Amino acid sequence: MQHLQMVDLKRQYQKIKPEIDTAIQGVIDSTLFIGGTEVNALAGELATYVGVKHVIPCANGTDALQIALMALDLKRGDEVITPSFTYIATVEVVALLGITPVFVDVHPDAFTMDPEALRKAITPRTKAIIPVHLYGQSAEMEAIMSVAAEHGIPVIEDNAQAIGGSYTYADGRTVKTGSMGLISCTSFFPSKNLGCYGDGGAIFTNDDALAEKLRMIANHGQKVRYYHEMVGCNSRLDAMQAAILRVKLPHLDAYNAARRAAADFYDNAFAQHTKLTTPYRAPWSHHVFHQYTLKVNGFDRDELHQQLAARGVPSMIYYPVPCHKQAMLKPWGTENMVLPVTDALNGCVISLPMHTELTTEELTYITQAVLDIIG
Ligand SMILES: *Cc1c(COP(=O)(O)O)cnc(C)c1O
Repeated sequence: MQHLQMVDLKRQYQKIKPEIDTAIQGVIDSTLFIGGTEVNALAGELATYVGVKHVIPCANGTDALQIALMALDLKRGDEVITPSFTYIATVEVVALLGITPVFVDVHPDAFTMDPEALRKAITPRTKAIIPVHLYGQSAEMEAIMSVAAEHGIPVIEDNAQAIGGSYTYADGRTVKTGSMGLISCTSFFPSKNLGCYGDGGAIFTNDDALAEKLRMIANHGQKVRYYHEMVGCNSRLDAMQAAILRVKLPHLDAYNAARRAAADFYDNAFAQHTKLTTPYRAPWSHHVFHQYTLKVNGFDRDELHQQLAARGVPSMIYYPVPCHKQAMLKPWGTENMVLPVTDALNGCVISLPMHTELTTEELTYITQAVLDIIG
């Protein structure tokens, strides 16, 4: 058996090597390194895939979130509601722009924003809501969108971990994650479900005027070159990354199916174990398992993490410190907030290797190691 990794990108590359190499060579031959046909074509293909009108590629997922907030003209004193149980980028951009992050708790099993907690957190200063489709599972978008609509507050979906996933409304209608908010953002960081070979991200919207504004902000606030109408930034997806993503996008559904198959294997192995809670598959969500995250109770989670490492099985804690307790947010004084679900989850979650190339042999080794350790 090969050396186990959390994410194995090498074997995935080897399967599509000829297409990838040709795509990269094509960009080099064209010398169109920034913008151009590859980037535009990718934007169109992503729009079709996710089911939104406009896609604005940008440099990374964090920039995508920042540009989204800038386009909403948020200012100091405004509040943005996010879960604390998320990757720091969701919150960092809020802090960076001098806006006030307001944290809400999450669903104890789905790990996504609790719509009732959201309702209670809204104030006259709330100017945006950022639900996160964490680990590949959609947040409860119908409830979140309806709370937002009652108050006329825009929703920005953080879809960095769930591209290709979907949400099913109460009436049975199913749509892709990233197509429901006023704006949605994703990341093409290599380990994401749709990853490039460097940094990349994209912003999605159905709103024509907003799309134009987002595009301008990502390009120094200009529509016409050298005429800068607003303060923007420089956030571009380069053509080489776009070419790579154009090769990988047609494989995304198969990649997500492979992740789900690995999750099924893990679920079966752990189903009867009282100390392990396997990931909840919410009825509203088609989970695409960016992470396979167990809850451990009745056994020391950190001990499991260490003993797995000793057996050559990598595992990760996403995330060891919740956002509201990060030193970064000291100026906002969020560390004493009471978020019982978030605080409990940070102490008991553990993520196992999850990628598109896991073999039965590897999954067997990993699950047996977990079961041996916890007894
Ligand atoms: C990865 C990630 C981001 C940021 O994406 P980058 O491309 O790394 O900047 C934002 N939010 C979440 C939930 C993420 O997982």
